[in-house]
Amino acid sequence: MDKTNTKFSEKEHISKKRIETILFIFLLSLLFLKGNLQGQNTNPNTLKTRVVLLGTGTPGPNPNCSGPATAVVYGKRFFLFDAGSGVERMINAAKLPINGPEATFITHLHSDHTLGYPDLILTSWLMRRKKALNVYGPHGLQRMTNLLLDAYYEDIDIRTNHLEKEQAEYLKVNVKEIDSGIVYDSAGVKITAIPVLHGDWKEAYGFRIDTPDRSIVISGDTRPCDALVKASEGVDILVHEVYFGKGLKPEKRPGGEYWPEYCKSYHTSDIELGTIANKAKPKLLVLTHIIRNDATDSDLISGIREGGYKGKVIVGKDLDQF
Ligand SMILES: [Zn+2]
Ligand SMILES: [Zn+2]
Repeated sequence: MDKTNTKFSEKEHISKKRIETILFIFLLSLLFLKGNLQGQNTNPNTLKTRVVLLGTGTPGPNPNCSGPATAVVYGKRFFLFDAGSGVERMINAAKLPINGPEATFITHLHSDHTLGYPDLILTSWLMRRKKALNVYGPHGLQRMTNLLLDAYYEDIDIRTNHLEKEQAEYLKVNVKEIDSGIVYDSAGVKITAIPVLHGDWKEAYGFRIDTPDRSIVISGDTRPCDALVKASEGVDILVHEVYFGKGLKPEKRPGGEYWPEYCKSYHTSDIELGTIANKAKPKLLVLTHIIRNDATDSDLISGIREGGYKGKVIVGKDLDQF
């Protein structure tokens, strides 16, 4: 056998081995990198955007469920959706800025969604808000704002013109009465108003929030509505109102016989929501504004499954974060 040839083939063999090893390490690092990148996209600790339920209640003064309010936080930026009863206390409980969000969005003017609005205006002012409060919502919001400021005239006068020496200029509220479409687009956060169907209300909105790392839809109060389904297709989180359909019965009060008809026209049942979520396929469905009609959490989830949704669903509780 030719010695040179043997040497050559040995060398060839060694370099083949080297190439194989290098390729193996390269593939291994690609896999590692892929895993890491996937981790970055799904690990809630590395996401900059989160949803905080500040109030999952309804008009009923349940001490465990504050009035409707949801926070979307992107880094240090805080956006508020609805201002139900107790909103400033819940903002504080969630360790969010009590001196006011970057912007507030009101879905509609029902009292349960706005009882915390004077609290938001006045308390965030007293907690050292240094700029006007920016609020977006349906037509009629400007009038409500003017009347609320007028209703607190004596309070504002005492606090600004006497020893508290509060600064009147920071009490300012900039109201923007909106229509459907993009209503906010600033430094990576885009917010779109979706017209929803809430009984006889002429104007009620859900909101879609898009940040660089997540998409979220908040339904507001609505019965099943195609526009909301479309806006929710494939979102990371759908936060949706719900009532327990099987527990629906007339209430014992004057006009209470209309309660089931009211719910069907103004709200979305658990089974209907299961169907909506099955169409929209959000990565996570969160129930809020829960009209329980005596249902347990598992009753509600059974209804969602009956409607067809097989994905992840959570019955929201105050201060839950996602
Ligand atoms: Zn409502
Ligand atoms: Zn409501």
